[in-house]
Amino acid sequence: MIDLSTLTIKKAHEDMKSGKYSAVELTQAYLDETKKKNPDINAYLEVFTDAIEQAKEADKRFKDGTAATLTGIPFAIKDNILINGRIASSASKILENYHATYDATAISKLKKEGAVFLGRTNMDEFALGGSTEKSAYGVTKNPHDTNRVPGGTSGGSAAAVAGMMSLVALGSDTGGSVRQPAAFCGVVGLKPTYGAVSRFGLMAATSSFDQIGPIAKTVTEAEIIFNAIKGQDIKDSTTISETTYSPKSVGKKPVIGVPRVFLNQGGISKDILKNFDESVEKLKKLGYEIKDIELPNAARALPVYYIINFAEVSSNLSRFDGMRFGLHKSGKDGIEDYFLSRGTGFGKEARRRILLGTYVLSSGYYDAYYNRANAARRIITQDFLKAFENVDIILTPTTPTPAFKIGEKLSDPVSMYLEDIFTVTANLTGLPAMSVPSGFSEVEGKKLPLGLQMTARHGDEKTLFGVGKEFLGE
Ligand code: GLN
Repeated sequence: MIDLSTLTIKKAHEDMKSGKYSAVELTQAYLDETKKKNPDINAYLEVFTDAIEQAKEADKRFKDGTAATLTGIPFAIKDNILINGRIASSASKILENYHATYDATAISKLKKEGAVFLGRTNMDEFALGGSTEKSAYGVTKNPHDTNRVPGGTSGGSAAAVAGMMSLVALGSDTGGSVRQPAAFCGVVGLKPTYGAVSRFGLMAATSSFDQIGPIAKTVTEAEIIFNAIKGQDIKDSTTISETTYSPKSVGKKPVIGVPRVFLNQGGISKDILKNFDESVEKLKKLGYEIKDIELPNAARALPVYYIINFAEVSSNLSRFDGMRFGLHKSGKDGIEDYFLSRGTGFGKEARRRILLGTYVLSSGYYDAYYNRANAARRIITQDFLKAFENVDIILTPTTPTPAFKIGEKLSDPVSMYLEDIFTVTANLTGLPAMSVPSGFSEVEGKKLPLGLQMTARHGDEKTLFGVGKEFLGE
């Protein structure tokens, strides 16, 4: 029996290397767990039938001495990241039978390492949402309390890791979609610096915000995966080189900033604030200097984020016209085909954002909405850059509440959007941010995980990993 609950990449690697068990046995252990749990949790949309075959290839590498750190390591992959030859649907009806014709750069890097892909995970359609309830293929449940959401949009990936249905996973983060589900499921999630990881082969939601990020039980594993998938890529001109940013630190030990005014804006649950204060105390005991900082415009981040998100989503989703990809419905002419395919292929949230995005980009309102939002985006970025003159890490909770109940926020889209108050700033500014588990809140007899979010300077994932590891005692 392999103890999956405490297993890490390093441990699995050592065990496979020493022959304690094979990659096939490890993969089988996760497949067995998935068989038991997935019918209820619905983390996976598809479990790959060739997972064992992939593991056999990994075992060959252990035998011939060419195994890398990630050889034989089981990954769950979000359904918007392309793997050549496999379905990638972004949990949408419109791409139900779309097979990817190439690998995303992150995937080809993992393939070179010999990772094993267990399956593709559920998500909110086209990464629009925050609960994995907006999938065309049913809701994913939180393994800690199956009446609650796992967060989203990478809810399937986070639930797979938390539910021991995969060792680690990839998600994507446009406004919090790696960090928020990581927080709700009690695991670690990293949104890298914009451009650190190639977006080639990641279905575009908001191209100026999107990043692929790792989900794992420990910071050390998130770091290993990040190092494996990052790097400049000729296929994504927004990728950055190692030297693009050379972050300086304020002190020898990272100095931590807390934006108190931003935290006291109201609407944040008492349990979250209490847990946050405990985390601050813990960091103080670990010897960190904590400073109060101001982010005067951070409270405006949410409308700014959503205007830019709607605008870019409406333009990115225009490629799904029923002609080139996936679902096609025939009407009396091309225009009717288009209306029928898009009208039936997209879910409600995607349609809402296409409509709102088209509105904010329309000639009469472009200046009032889209241009103003972009100007505000720059001002918010300045706030963060200014704060980083005095501190190395900015600390907030990851979410304003613990995991909410399935259905609770479905009738009110704005209440769902408000969940993103702490996470969207990292996407607006391009800064790297990570959520680490910070404890639990007891709600109706269930222990619900909470997350602590750390944000660092551009290109300074290293400091995030360092502080994160100390915080978790790794
Ligand atoms: N909840 C945010 C949104 O709905 C973020 C989604 C994401 O990061 N993909 O846009």
